Amino acid sequence: MENIELKRFWEQVKEELLGVLPENAHPWVYPLEISGYEKGVLTLVTGQMMGRDILRRNYYDIMVEALKHISGDENSRIIIIYDESAAKTLKKESERLQKRANEMIFKEQALENLSNMQSSANLNLKYKFENFVVGESNKFAYAAAMAVAKNPAGKYNPLFIYGNSGLGKTHLMQAIGHYIIFNNPKLKVKYTKTEDYVNDYISNSRKTNNNIENMSKFNRKYTNIDVILIDDIQFIESKIKSMENLQYTFDSLYNKGKQIVITSDRLPKEIPTLTAALCTRFEMGLMLELTPPDLDTRFEILKKNASENDLKFEEEALMYIAKNYSNNVRELEGAFTKVCAYAEITEQELTLTLAKNVLKCEDKDDSITSEQIAKVTASYYEVDLKDIMGTARGQKVSVARHISIYLCREITNQSFVNIAKYYNKKHTTIMFAYEKIKKEKDSNRDISSALREIRQALKVL
Ligand code: ADP
Ligand code: MG
Repeated sequence: MENIELKRFWEQVKEELLGVLPENAHPWVYPLEISGYEKGVLTLVTGQMMGRDILRRNYYDIMVEALKHISGDENSRIIIIYDESAAKTLKKESERLQKRANEMIFKEQALENLSNMQSSANLNLKYKFENFVVGESNKFAYAAAMAVAKNPAGKYNPLFIYGNSGLGKTHLMQAIGHYIIFNNPKLKVKYTKTEDYVNDYISNSRKTNNNIENMSKFNRKYTNIDVILIDDIQFIESKIKSMENLQYTFDSLYNKGKQIVITSDRLPKEIPTLTAALCTRFEMGLMLELTPPDLDTRFEILKKNASENDLKFEEEALMYIAKNYSNNVRELEGAFTKVCAYAEITEQELTLTLAKNVLKCEDKDDSITSEQIAKVTASYYEVDLKDIMGTARGQKVSVARHISIYLCREITNQSFVNIAKYYNKKHTTIMFAYEKIKKEKDSNRDISSALREIRQALKVL
């Protein structure tokens, strides 16, 4: 075939392909170019290595059917080749388009004012760095979030923040968004809850019924931005299509050098519905854990809350609340709000007595120290404390050390980094020990009874 004929032929095949392939495969089809067609064999070239692999692996048969349909040749075959020079042209073209898009975005955005931008980014005005109290438990996460905010798509991409509910993940993530919008207004920030993303995707693909125009509108919405903040990724559903699409969103942004921030209540590999491909991508950057704040930080959070609302209070009242709500900042704030409301309604001062009356907490003992835990564990296992603290490798000493580390984390709520300092070990070693006991404690009798007895011994200290 002549060149021009080849091109025409390919246009026909391409149209057929776009008609039969699902939306999320389209971005891999657009950049394909024809390089030859002979004896039923269609050779295509692409600058996207991932595109070649995905098309080959997942859509080969559909593509051949489409080719047969157009050519009428029963012996149709397709060969897709990755070509580096096509990759370069593609990169140049996308940079050119991006530059043009950026210029347009800049003009458009110059017209909007800051608060408009913040609300369009879907951010809560309370969740800024200024309102985030920094303490031992969150200083690393805070520093990393700040580094990302100051230099998006720099060192930490993606940034993956994980930790239990109510520890400030959403707050930190949105703080990044506010900071960027304020300091770098030409960058486009988008915050989305994972459920909203999934719902948006599902409703778009239903509504449009494979309509190219509308699906690419969806994709533009999530990839024509500079910073994406995806909250609570553990809610990703196991639907293959939305997963594939999330991967597409991730790759488009990542390949364009855009910042991705993700939060989760657990590590990527602990999310059962997550595909391996997404898991690897999330683990590619920096993963940070938020742990419950220590007493001082909790007290500071309440003080900040009180002063923002111009409230008078007895320090002991805040201390009482801080002592009794140690695992979840949301609950801590909830308790504080309850006491404030009660004080206001009954027109009383915010005193310790009032707080005690309203909350009626059992007096908790958070005076158990890492050292006491290590000592009691050593005597339970009849090993030397210095062996637990050291690197001795015997079976008994290792178990004792792991148990002691596990209990230290559970009872004192300290961060892994802090516990690592106490034991003079790497924080990954500490995490490993903690996870090991966590996994074994329900199936291993020796371990579960050791945990129970050591806890009891600690109580009577
Ligand atoms: P998560 O997303 O981890 O469930 P959030 O970010 O929603 O938690 O935080 C819950 C509440 O606690 C929010 O009101 C948040 O402002 C507050 N909070 C959490 N950590 C801090 C902190 N270090 N300083 C100030 N407020 C905090
Ligand atoms: Mg949250």
